[in-house]
Amino acid sequence: MRFQTILFALLFALLAGGVTVQAQETKLKWFGHAAFSITTPNGKVLLIDPWLNNGANPDAKDGKDPLAAIPQVDYILITHGHRDHVGEAVAIARKTDARLIANPELARNLVKLTDFPEKQAGDYIMQMGGEIQIADGEVTVAMTEAVHSSSVFNPKAGPNEPERAYGGSPASFVIMIKNGPTIYHTGDTAYFKDMEVIGETYAIDVALININQMGAKMSARAAQSVRTKLAVPMHFGTVDDALKADGFAAELKQMKINFYEMKPGEIISFRGRQMIRR
Ligand SMILES: [Zn+2]
Repeated sequence: MRFQTILFALLFALLAGGVTVQAQETKLKWFGHAAFSITTPNGKVLLIDPWLNNGANPDAKDGKDPLAAIPQVDYILITHGHRDHVGEAVAIARKTDARLIANPELARNLVKLTDFPEKQAGDYIMQMGGEIQIADGEVTVAMTEAVHSSSVFNPKAGPNEPERAYGGSPASFVIMIKNGPTIYHTGDTAYFKDMEVIGETYAIDVALININQMGAKMSARAAQSVRTKLAVPMHFGTVDDALKADGFAAELKQMKINFYEMKPGEIISFRGRQMIRR
């Protein structure tokens, strides 16, 4: 009897301990291209630039429906209106009831032209320079600058209408997670010197850097400007087949900035602000 009690207590402690450890982790998944999901310690799911049907995503290979791999999404963040960033946002919103985080012009035209569910595209509309709290205060999202263009593809355009509608200014995001890392997603951008301001303003732990737009040298300079502790390359191996992250890695090495190349489909975890090496 006593032995059973001890065994039970031990099992309970193990289980409780396991649950606590799990609850403190933030998970970052790359779907290829610029598409990432972030699962917070409290279990909320943010999806950024959800082009899941890209050729690099293992969840989309062999005729698989990539949406099957994302049963829960609470927020969809879109940096700009180009199709390789809007991706399957409409279908995902319908399936998961996720709320849209984007600028008002992009949000409005996604509703009007692509039938993004209207009731999910009103509460978290923001502009560059703004910060909003989501996930019951667990996450703060800042919309920051990007130097690029933005337009929404209009599938309903007739022969005499422009097939690209206004998408407002392109953006990047800084995502601050309570008991988790602060993650910067560059969106599509050229290098601009005011990235230094982003680095001075936020304590960035992980920067997801678009190496396709900036090239190796300027991508590394971007990592340095935003003062990230860890640089992760993205926006390669899809529409830009020949592009590899090696040049970026070499530049970062000279600058002594940590580099990690995720594989499409890979999930990395963070305990607090620290990446966990498994
Ligand atoms: Zn792009």
